Amino acid sequence: MAVDEKTLAILACPLCKGKLIWVAAKSELVCRGDRLAYPVRNDIPMLLSHEARELSRDELEQLPS
Ligand SMILES: [Zn+2]
Repeated sequence: MAVDEKTLAILACPLCKGKLIWVAAKSELVCRGDRLAYPVRNDIPMLLSHEARELSRDELEQLPS
């Protein structure tokens, strides 16, 4: 499973409409501003606030910039 650059460019956080960071290792799309990770299941990004999980401080620090 992969989210390519083109797809990533049109995706936005449903809460703040900000850019998302693709974390391939976890198949998650991360919003740094909201500290939330949205799961990607069967190639479909679950961009819903109730699907998201909160990131720990450690996880936030490990995000690619
Ligand atoms: Zn956000």
